[in-house]
Amino acid sequence: MAEENNKAKGTGGSNVIGAVKAGKKFKIAISLISTLAPIALGVFFVIVVIVAVTGATPSSCFDTNTASGGGGAAIGGDWKNANSDKHKAMQYAADEFKNKLHMSGTNIAAALAIGLRESNFDPAAVNPAGHVIGLWQWGNGGANGNRYGNTQTTVEGQVALAIKELTSTHVKALSSMKDANLADSLDAWDMYFEGLQKSDPQRKVEKITATAQEVQKVFNLNFDGHIDAGDSQIDNGGNTANSGSNSDMAICDTGVSGTTSGLPVKGKYRITGGYPNYNGETGAAHYGVDFQTIKHTEDGEESDVYSVSDGTVVVKTPSVVGGNYVVIKNTDGTYAYYGHAPSLDSIVVKVGDQVKKGQHISHEGQTGEATGIHVHFGLNIKDQNGWGIASKGLVSPATYLKNFPKQLVPKDGVVNSDMSTVFDASEQKDDK
Ligand SMILES: [Zn+2]
Repeated sequence: MAEENNKAKGTGGSNVIGAVKAGKKFKIAISLISTLAPIALGVFFVIVVIVAVTGATPSSCFDTNTASGGGGAAIGGDWKNANSDKHKAMQYAADEFKNKLHMSGTNIAAALAIGLRESNFDPAAVNPAGHVIGLWQWGNGGANGNRYGNTQTTVEGQVALAIKELTSTHVKALSSMKDANLADSLDAWDMYFEGLQKSDPQRKVEKITATAQEVQKVFNLNFDGHIDAGDSQIDNGGNTANSGSNSDMAICDTGVSGTTSGLPVKGKYRITGGYPNYNGETGAAHYGVDFQTIKHTEDGEESDVYSVSDGTVVVKTPSVVGGNYVVIKNTDGTYAYYGHAPSLDSIVVKVGDQVKKGQHISHEGQTGEATGIHVHFGLNIKDQNGWGIASKGLVSPATYLKNFPKQLVPKDGVVNSDMSTVFDASEQKDDK
């Protein structure tokens, strides 16, 4: 039905943008492709990136798949209890890291503590929505790529995978842990094994440090290491690790906020630009969704743009196509782009700021390639700079934003623009 509406209307059917003139229709409510990419009129790019965002994401970001009988031995018990299976599993990992990689007690405490954070040190921990699995939550298909491959759902299998990666594809994590204290060991594993930014709140640095200190004490991890990442003694089995992105790019609910709900505008709005392309006769690539509030002024509360998630500001800059824009790394590891602000000053947050879902961050505007006042919203699950046609990791905002008007989404995240229908963000519940 949405498709039919769109056909009947055509792109230029309704002029809500105000500034639309003949010959400029293709710029309607516009465009953020990339400065490198030309606007490809009439070319229909089809990107099918299906990201499974479920409504019922577990608050801890993983499930244990034993309930489904899906395989594997869940490792239970209190990790501090030396008789528990979980304690034994952690001891096994510690011994392997010590004997095969010559990691120090401090290095190992960091790795085990992060394993507790990621999966409660359970090899059967899975997050079906994010396609991640295991002790350190490896990508297992879907948008995360597949680092996990055919690894067994066992502590032995997964520790072997970690060792293989630490001596090949992720050797930087290992080399950075050489002679490192606890804080640096945690940084090294999170940045170079998990792929997190040092400042990412998802790391929970304070909590993970306390956990690592406890792990060190409980397992008596008080020995020096002698890591040599180029050491021929290191047994990597001659294999290279599987390709795929890091495990923490999963779209999962960290429990910090409702990251799959919330919209970048409040009150009455229209969707004036679709995804992946503009609709109707232009068909130009677009790779975001344009939100335009009814009043669409450039100042005042009606122009306010809000963060759709808790996160950290990572980019704030002017550009030729997107105008003044801000990128926020959401707590689930995704990147959200808000474009066309009237000025850099009208983006009221700065790089490094931590923001909350629903926080006022910017204003609608029409800088860059825009002919009407709106905010361009884009979402990338891999890259804070990738917003152009060929960028990897771009996904449909409609798939990510739980409260996006579903009638504009005919299939697989494709979004039709709709100049005539007014939606109301304030009528939508903003809960999880
Ligand atoms: Zn746009």
